[in-house]
Amino acid sequence: MYTDSHCHPENKRFDSDRLDVFARAKAAGVTTMLAIGNGDGPGTGTFDCAIKLAEEYDGVYATVGIHPHEAALATPADFDELTKLAKHRKVVGWGEIGLDYFYDHSPRDVQQKVFVQQMELAASAKLPIIIHCRPSDNSTNAWDELLELLRDAWAGHGLGGVLHCFTGTPEHARAALDLGFMISFAGNVTYPKATSIQQTAKEVPLDRMFIETDSPYLAPVPHRGKRNEPAYVTETAKFVANLRGISAEELGLATTENFYRFFGIEK
Ligand SMILES: [Zn+2]
Ligand SMILES: [Zn+2]
Repeated sequence: MYTDSHCHPENKRFDSDRLDVFARAKAAGVTTMLAIGNGDGPGTGTFDCAIKLAEEYDGVYATVGIHPHEAALATPADFDELTKLAKHRKVVGWGEIGLDYFYDHSPRDVQQKVFVQQMELAASAKLPIIIHCRPSDNSTNAWDELLELLRDAWAGHGLGGVLHCFTGTPEHARAALDLGFMISFAGNVTYPKATSIQQTAKEVPLDRMFIETDSPYLAPVPHRGKRNEPAYVTETAKFVANLRGISAEELGLATTENFYRFFGIEK
């Protein structure tokens, strides 16, 4: 039994075979997925993209939120719409939100402002947050600033969150664990050069971790470079389990139980 804690199944790259993608996930034992609901961002009418899939498929849950890439496009009307959508019974988190200093698609000060605004909305909705964080090349700038913002604007709410596609240092992970966050590992943990992520994947307590695909992006070895899909979370499970000296099944079960417990979902 496996859970893909972060995927984008509404993505256009699945339009031609979405049913098959869900069927392959089920066949691989991936019984639970969290569909991320950023859609194409503000002004595109797609904030409900994950909700639509969650309504259609058992075991699929949804988020809503504005990605840092599109922070510069956010308007008060978007915040109102997200607040309404967040009340849906299958919405379990707010995200992905955060900071992306790698692409800098939106100015950094705007990313920070919109991130803080969405933390306030998530707190009102009583939802945990799903964090996207990517620093500039050879830097930890976004992780450092993210943790500071989480301490100032989020930790006090006691709702916790998820650091999705974790790429920080073991120290960043420890600081986030202290703030009540779960650490989620994506396919890039399987890449040979990812020694720091692998070290963290070894150290994080088993009851504080998730695994995810972030599909269609970031396929794990041996699918690296191809379109990723939720079934491939089993490869990340195998890899992380091997690092920790346990079976993939044990890791799959533990991360699935973590998912249901953390998001307060009744099985
Ligand atoms: Zn992301
Ligand atoms: Zn994502």
